[in-house]
Amino acid sequence: MAKVPAFHSKLPGTRVYHDNDKCTEGNNIEKQNRVSGTGNLPKCDHCKRL
Ligand SMILES: [Zn+2]
Repeated sequence: MAKVPAFHSKLPGTRVYHDNDKCTEGNNIEKQNRVSGTGNLPKCDHCKRL
């Protein structure tokens, strides 16, 4: 597993942030919609398990 700096999507409806480059949900965020930081969101469940 590889931890990366926290990032989240700027799209409306985003509920979580990601911090693992193996997270499929995180990888589904298109580059132009990625914002670094947690955005005060809870951590993604998938990232927690990775
Ligand atoms: Zn994630």
